[in-house]
Amino acid sequence: MIPNFQKIIDNGFSSHLKVTVPHQTIPSWPCLFSGQDVDQLGYYTFIHPIKGIFNSSVWKDRSILSIPNLKIFALNIPGTYPAWKINGEMIAGILSPSFSCFPKDLKENLEENWIVEGKNLPEIIKTFEMKTKLFLRKMKEDFDLLVYVIRLPDAFSHKVIGSEKMISNYIQLAYKKIDEFLGVIIKENNFDNLIIFSDHGLKFYTKVLNFPRLLEKKGLLYFDNVRTKRLRNIFLKLYDVIRPFIKIHIIKKFYIKYFNYEKRETQIKKDKGIDLDNIDKPRTFVQKLTSNMGALFLYGNDRNRIDIIRKSLWNDKYVKEIIEYNKSGFPDFLIVLNDKYILTKEPSFFIKRRTEVYSHTNKGLFLAFGKNIKKGREELINYQDIAPTILKLYGIKKPDYMKGKILDILSQ
Ligand SMILES: [Zn+2]
Repeated sequence: MIPNFQKIIDNGFSSHLKVTVPHQTIPSWPCLFSGQDVDQLGYYTFIHPIKGIFNSSVWKDRSILSIPNLKIFALNIPGTYPAWKINGEMIAGILSPSFSCFPKDLKENLEENWIVEGKNLPEIIKTFEMKTKLFLRKMKEDFDLLVYVIRLPDAFSHKVIGSEKMISNYIQLAYKKIDEFLGVIIKENNFDNLIIFSDHGLKFYTKVLNFPRLLEKKGLLYFDNVRTKRLRNIFLKLYDVIRPFIKIHIIKKFYIKYFNYEKRETQIKKDKGIDLDNIDKPRTFVQKLTSNMGALFLYGNDRNRIDIIRKSLWNDKYVKEIIEYNKSGFPDFLIVLNDKYILTKEPSFFIKRRTEVYSHTNKGLFLAFGKNIKKGREELINYQDIAPTILKLYGIKKPDYMKGKILDILSQ
């Protein structure tokens, strides 16, 4: 099914990858391409309540893409907007509100109707095909290091609404397409080493946990006002009755538009700029991160109860881990639920039915193959080790801020 992945695994080095916490695009990709941890990066997700939306100025000085001795082609890397001046060429990736590249005239060489990110499934596939074609063309030029972040499986995981089987089919299609791309690279054989890694894994979560509800049930914190709660309950009761008669995507659209306060919050934030919470009078809130994670910010009187909340959550059967950062703009608690549970701010009521919950996991993938890579297999390697190892391949000493080690994958 995916023979070229298999070829790389059989003839190279492979391992699971321990990814960043939280395991999502930001902080993950900037950490992978700078060797920093989340604390050093200073962003635990896309939006920082004080500093605003993540952009390339946060990390560009520490990015391996900025190394002057290497001529680099960087395509579609999340967090590279706006594209900055490097020794080479860059086209910004995920999170780009608009097209951005360096040097500016690079745009003239791109296909017409270049898509930054596809909005629907056919566009997502088209985007992949366009970028892949460009990347293969660039491989024939004299770059030292070429980087391409392929969004396909992740984009499908976020966009496909349907049965488990349907989602699985799309994910398989994504891997098949990537495998064909790898096939072309292997066949053309104009590279020294090929390294493949992901910022997270993907899986079906079997259970849904409404985290604010859990906090309310435990008597720790209270969120909704009574009116919103009553309205939502009425809708959910009604939904249960009409659900069998209406197509899931229609009802989902309706629900998201009128009842999903999380999505609405995001929209309001977008409209108002980046005001994550009301700064004048901050209220305690839960921020949903991907999959089994969420962030809890405590304000006002709730802060006095931080020890009680911590203790109660550590003892809770749904909670696997609580991570605390003592850093401004970071949450008081980063909550990691047990592996089965996806964390939501909505009643499971709605989500658990016909739509399967497919989302990120903390286990990524690492594969390496080529002239300087020895054959081998490791159970788990750390994301912080990738940047120093890439530098080692070019004989570049790792900077002090990289805490990771050079992986034992290089042949002498
Ligand atoms: Zn994702």
